[in-house]
Amino acid sequence: MTGRIVSIALDSPLDTEFDYRWTPASAGAPEPRPGQLALVPFGRREVVGLVTAVGDASDYDASKLRDIIDVREQLAPLPADWIALCRFAADYYQRPLGEVMLPCLPKGLRTAPTVALDRALKKRAGLSGATGKAAARKGKAATDTADLAPPAAVPGLPAPAAPPKLNAGQQAAVDAIVAAEGFAAHLLFGVTGSGKTEVYLHAAQAVIAREQASGRQAQVLILVPEINLTPQLEGSVRARFPHLKVVTLHSQLAEGERLRNWIAAHLGDAAIVLGTRLSVLAAMPQLKLIVVDEEHDPSYKQQEGLRYSARDLAIWRARQQDIPVVLGSATPSIESWHHASNGRYRRLDLTQRAAAHAQLPRVGLIDMEVNKAPDGLSPPLVAALRARLERGEQSLLFLNRRGYAPVMHCDACGWISNCRRCTAFMVLHKPERRLRCHHCSLELRIPHACPTCGNVDLQPMGRGTQRVEEHLQVLFPQARVLRIDADSTRKKGSAQAAFDSVHRGEVDILLGTQMVAKGHDFQRLTLVGVINPDTALFSQDYRAGERLFAQLMQVAGRAGRAAVAEGSAQRSEVLVQTRYPQHPLYRALLAHDYPGFAQATLAERRSAGLPPFVYQALLRAEAKQLQAALDFLQAARDLMPVDGIVINDPVPMTVTRVAGVERAQLLVESSSRAQLQAFLRPWTAALRQQKSRLRWSLEVDPVDI
Ligand code: ADP
Ligand code: ZN
Ligand code: ZN
Repeated sequence: MTGRIVSIALDSPLDTEFDYRWTPASAGAPEPRPGQLALVPFGRREVVGLVTAVGDASDYDASKLRDIIDVREQLAPLPADWIALCRFAADYYQRPLGEVMLPCLPKGLRTAPTVALDRALKKRAGLSGATGKAAARKGKAATDTADLAPPAAVPGLPAPAAPPKLNAGQQAAVDAIVAAEGFAAHLLFGVTGSGKTEVYLHAAQAVIAREQASGRQAQVLILVPEINLTPQLEGSVRARFPHLKVVTLHSQLAEGERLRNWIAAHLGDAAIVLGTRLSVLAAMPQLKLIVVDEEHDPSYKQQEGLRYSARDLAIWRARQQDIPVVLGSATPSIESWHHASNGRYRRLDLTQRAAAHAQLPRVGLIDMEVNKAPDGLSPPLVAALRARLERGEQSLLFLNRRGYAPVMHCDACGWISNCRRCTAFMVLHKPERRLRCHHCSLELRIPHACPTCGNVDLQPMGRGTQRVEEHLQVLFPQARVLRIDADSTRKKGSAQAAFDSVHRGEVDILLGTQMVAKGHDFQRLTLVGVINPDTALFSQDYRAGERLFAQLMQVAGRAGRAAVAEGSAQRSEVLVQTRYPQHPLYRALLAHDYPGFAQATLAERRSAGLPPFVYQALLRAEAKQLQAALDFLQAARDLMPVDGIVINDPVPMTVTRVAGVERAQLLVESSSRAQLQAFLRPWTAALRQQKSRLRWSLEVDPVDI
């Protein structure tokens, strides 16, 4: 008996688990168990991996194997169902298991020194001791960690109120979710302001209470697109469950806090985990309910490394655990709507705004063929803004383009501000006095004169948020205008501060990109203006229309949310400037008709053979020369033709060159998901075998094509 052979998943691009040896003498540590983290030699380094299996060494030449250095005994093993979840993700998205498991763990678990882990565990032990001894140490414990702090009101937001009595629609939704036995996927389709949050909170409450009544613990996972843009939800959750441990998980947490929160989820201390997409891979042994808020949001899709959809993994995980999952949205993804229509998901509708007499805003279209607007704002929109200023109400202007102007141009010779490293324009940023490429981040000073002909009168073309801000200041010198976009909120915490000032009523006109469209509950907002959304109507990307419709419904949903006395206030308004007022997308928007839009979109997709009626995977390649990338893809295409799989021609990506690298792609399609999966497995294995020096990646269920 030579000991044990231990299979370990490592964060390595080699699609294999690695075997190590453990003998009673080798480490002095107890025998490793699956799910434990272990320190092992790898090449000349020492790395942390995850034990996936432990086997007998007798029938194996173990002498060739290297010894495990250390086992992280202090941490309870990750459970088998968590390993199964990772294994599913690795198989489905065609990634090595170790590249799925390790990167989703907090850094403190993956480093050779155990200082951070030991510190986090010590803190946990100390704190549970403190809660045991109650009052004496409570004050100190509360300052040690935000998690145990009393549920303070989020600064600048209204103080947490007692839970409102659910209306009939909300109650029916909660009942359906709680009554479900085992796995059930619910699509909570609720117009903006219909009170979906209350449904999540009541369902969570009911599930936790039910488990507690039977002497069991329960954990609830609430996924949100971006925590920093929706602090109100975190405030509501903490206020509603002051007696429970609530933790957040997202990439902007400090390492120490992320590790502590992850451990709290893994050990079952945290009853509620509120997190971004990465938290769908957190270990939660008592998971009893999953909520995916704004399930249509593109940020649920990871765009590099393991290109997973957190929404899809949430569904898989709910099925694995045999528990309910709730997908909430006012504008569900076309896939989810399709699943609800064919009965795979159960649809729960909230058709009314929840707050007393709050109404959906009236939507109007401003025809830009008739209304000239040299500075981007048409006379009807300017008049509507003026009326809000006079009444002391807030307005929101939505323009999904940051910077001053998307391009600079010379009238004399035709020069335009191309990026020399990308197939893209350099964007004019006037306050920063820079030209910036939004693809490769190259920055140049604004040239004094045309680089080609010396003309000193270079012109900005088109407009971004900075230019509209400048114009607003000229139009309404007395108004308090605030711009919120990626440029104005670079400093940590500045987005939060900006939103707080809107909530405090210190802003008359809020102007911004999609950052302002998300779930904010602005109480004094009665006008939303949308500036030139038309470009998305003619995009090559077949999802552009779906995304635009969702964005417009979301941003429109920021208006008229407050409870008002019956008949008192005027109905709030959304004004969209467009050159295509007859376009079906805008007609559906006028009628707040998401179902109509979704039905038309599904019919189009069906006849065009697009998802969700086909399944896709996208192979991308990058090279110094475009031809090399195309050649690689062509070779991949010829590698293994298979019946039932369509492999399209390789094509350059729309933005072909980024930072001097040429990019091309190859679309693979099948009408059967199983067939596509069966093809992708040997295909990616063969591509890995080729050992091409060129960078490539595969995306299953791609969203940007
Ligand atoms: P959604 O997420 O569906 O857009 P919210 O959850 O933000 O909507 O709720 C919109 C507003 O309605 C919030 O101010 C919320 O406090 C309020 N609200 C929710 N449910 C009720 C209810 N049953 N009675 C009164 N107000 C409610
Ligand atoms: Zn010129
Ligand atoms: Zn560039």
